[in-house]
Order: sequence, then structure tokens, then C-alpha cells
Amino acid sequence: MPSSLRPPRRLADPSLPCLDATHVVSFLTRSVARWPLACFAAATILLSAFRAASAENAGTPPLRVLFLTGGGYHDYQKLAPHLTRELARRVRVDFDVRFGLDSLKDPGFAKAFDAVVYDVCDDEVSDGILTNALNTVRAGKPAVMIHCAVHAFRRSPLIHEWETCCGMRSKVHDPFAPLSTVKLDPASPITRSFPEDWKSPGDELYQTISIDPMSHALLRAKSLKDGREHIVAWTYEFGRGRVFATTLGHDMKTAVSEHYLQLLANGLLWSCGKLTPEGTPAAGLVVSPSR
Ligand SMILES: [Zn+2]
Repeated sequence: MPSSLRPPRRLADPSLPCLDATHVVSFLTRSVARWPLACFAAATILLSAFRAASAENAGTPPLRVLFLTGGGYHDYQKLAPHLTRELARRVRVDFDVRFGLDSLKDPGFAKAFDAVVYDVCDDEVSDGILTNALNTVRAGKPAVMIHCAVHAFRRSPLIHEWETCCGMRSKVHDPFAPLSTVKLDPASPITRSFPEDWKSPGDELYQTISIDPMSHALLRAKSLKDGREHIVAWTYEFGRGRVFATTLGHDMKTAVSEHYLQLLANGLLWSCGKLTPEGTPAAGLVVSPSR
């Protein structure tokens, strides 16, 4: 399949057991017979939640987000459908997933979208493409940088501008290893629900060479190799564009973490100005139970 073709947006999880409709009906019938009041209460709560979410979302379109992915060193064919599917379970969002950066040849590539996610790892790209990406953020389009996006375009003459856009400069990372983070801003709505001492069974710790004084650090991790500490999640504003970035997320070891997925969801919402101070999606972007 040509790399530019989009993978399916939502994939069935093969690890889930296959439920037979007859068994489900039988189970429900027996449950209602045994616990009628409990079942009635559960159904009422579910219906109320569904109605509340539906009413709240009425008339509000989901976020439209361009998810750019691809490049070397990572299994983006696995990561991209996983991340977009899981984020859509946490936020009302429709993703347009594109492998490769060809669409950035058009200066107006992001016009139809509320935000752009960069989950890419291209070492080099034409100046025209990178200029369009930079101008788009600078003009106010929200951006989310995931993992290698912070190391990308290292051979481009415009790399320093891209690093400025990301809000942090990093060139190398520690070897893949278990990693734990320290929360730096418990009041931030992005990390409010994030554990104080979150752990990943394996990731790459990107080394912070310098972080922009205007960046707002959210999470830090200590190197198992030399004890140095590096910022692994932060926010920044490049021109008029809000940027959320995290260097976490090399592969599925981190990407399956519920806390990591919520971090990305919150970062995306924050970049769009759609995250409440309590760390929940703004009105209209709450996922209804039926979704
Ligand atoms: Zn990586």
C-alpha cells in the first residue's frame, strides 16, 4: 500500500474476546431477573450520562485534527492507529492520519484543521515543507509534538527554527530503558491527573540541551545512566500557536499507558484552548458513552 494512504481510523482490537450475541442476551436476561433494582439503576445512570453528554455536545462539531506521522526508527504503522483510536476515546476528535509530509507542500495544508499532531521522525525535509510547518504554528495553529518530532529534521538548514518551535533543544537520547517521571506542575490541567511518579517499562530519555525560558515544564525524568535530569513534557507558544510537546512515546511500551494517553489527550485539548482548569474536555468535546 502506498505510504501516503491512510490506515483505517478505528481498528478492531484482536485481543478482545469475541462476544456471541446469544450469550450477551442470556446474561442480561439472567442479570435483570436476579438483580432488577440494580439493573434498573445502572440503566438509568447510563441513560442519564448518555443524554447529558449528547445534550452538551449538541451542535458542537468534534475537533478536526491532522495527524502527521512516519519516518525512521519507529513503528508508526502500529503507533498511529493506536494513538488516534485511543485519543478519540477520550476527546471528541476526528483525525485525518497522513503518512509522510507531502501535504505540507501546500502552505494552507492545515486550514481545514483545528490542530496538527507531529508524530514524525524524518531526518531531513525540504525547506519549503518545514517553512510551511513553522509558519502554520507561528500563525496560531495549535501543534502537538510527540517523541521524535523533537529530534526530527536534524539535517535541515532550518533545524534551529524547528527547535525554537518545539520549545526545547535535544539531539540525543539515553538507551531504551525503564523510565520514571516527576510531576513539576501539579496545578496544570494537563498533568493534574497524572501520577506523581509515573513509570514506563521502557522508553528513550531525550537529553535536554536547552529549554526555552518561555517553555513551561510539566514532567521531568532522571537518567539511569548518569543521573542527569531532563524535561520530557512541556508547553510553549511559538508565535501565536500553542505547542504541547512530549519526548515520551518511542513505542507501545509507553503508548499503551492510560496515563500517557490521557497526557496526550490533555495536551491536545490545551493546545486548542479546549481543556478546562479541572483537566476535562471543554463543553461539546466530552465523549459520549456510545462513542
Ligand atoms: Zn524513539
